[in-house]
Amino acid sequence: MTAPVTLEGVGHRFGEHRALGGIGLEIAAGDYVTLLGPSGCGKTTLLSILGGFLRPEEGRVRIGGRDVTAVPPARRPTATVFQDYALFPHMTLRDNVGFGPRMAGMGRVARHRVAEEKLALVGLAGAGGKRPHELSGGQRQRVALARALAVEPDVLLLDEPLGALDLKLRRAMQEELKALQRRVGTTFVHVTHDQEEAMAIADRVVVMNAGRIEDEGPPDRVYRRPRSLFAAGFMGETNRIPGRRGPGGLETPLGPVPLALPGDAARVVVCLRPESLKDGAGDWDLGPARVEEATFLGAHVRARLVPERAPELRLVAHLPPGWEPGAALRLAADPADLSVFPEETP
Ligand code: ATP
Repeated sequence: MTAPVTLEGVGHRFGEHRALGGIGLEIAAGDYVTLLGPSGCGKTTLLSILGGFLRPEEGRVRIGGRDVTAVPPARRPTATVFQDYALFPHMTLRDNVGFGPRMAGMGRVARHRVAEEKLALVGLAGAGGKRPHELSGGQRQRVALARALAVEPDVLLLDEPLGALDLKLRRAMQEELKALQRRVGTTFVHVTHDQEEAMAIADRVVVMNAGRIEDEGPPDRVYRRPRSLFAAGFMGETNRIPGRRGPGGLETPLGPVPLALPGDAARVVVCLRPESLKDGAGDWDLGPARVEEATFLGAHVRARLVPERAPELRLVAHLPPGWEPGAALRLAADPADLSVFPEETP
């Protein structure tokens, strides 16, 4: 009912275009993993390779220790939930959900029992006689999930499963999906380009860019300690402050940073999350600043700041409600909240 997944050196091209290169990834049994990245980064291609819909040109895929690289979808211990649900419109929910078991040769009574059980699991108990057109988008999504789970996969693959839902329903379904995954214990691999969704739902998030993995790990680690500049920017808003190696350590237009500069790059980018900038004293004193624009967001104000020491720069800070344009503050940050990367060479 659950299995680990290993990808070793997986690569694939479409014609001249390298969609994936050198992908190595270990997913533990029962983990909820999200594949996160911008459009075209190769998420769907990777999911298709996991599901057996695409055979990679390079590398190996193992599920539960078994090499499945050349095994077709129906003979893998996987099931896929597609964004458009792909339900059979003319069939009842019971027959939709019972479709996989029927293909596997299960008798009518048994598969109806499985269908009712899986429909109950997704909160649609007793709805087996309905047809897809009688359901809302969120309910269809649940049926698609129930149908995928009916074949008792070891690994469930989900391609933008909540992409068609409005924001509120999407947030509610994220919690449900996570709770469902905990109950069934199956390994889930979920593709999304929504960073909030990826963080909210996953045990581990895999950040992809241009066919490669930029970072991979628990969401809080990837958010707080991203391993690349791209991952820092894709996991949430970040201030990017140019820095360089000076005689006394890390220097920036906003003053020296009391931090040992890692690596040997002469020029670096210092990343700082908006919530890590504050008004007051701190180990890194960034000097005075003025609020240029303030957006009230309920729990905090998102403020755009002009720092006095480098008025050509703009910083974004999350400040307590009450801050308004024109207000002056003294900026400080804790060096432990910074991530420093070598400057990107174009
Ligand atoms: P999106 O979020 O837009 O779905 P994605 O990250 O899932 O993007 P993929 O669909 O995996 O990206 O595509 C990766 C790259 O490979 C893209 O540049 C895409 O244009 C290309 N590609 C994908 N499928 C094919 C195909 N069948 N033939 C040619 N090129 C393809």
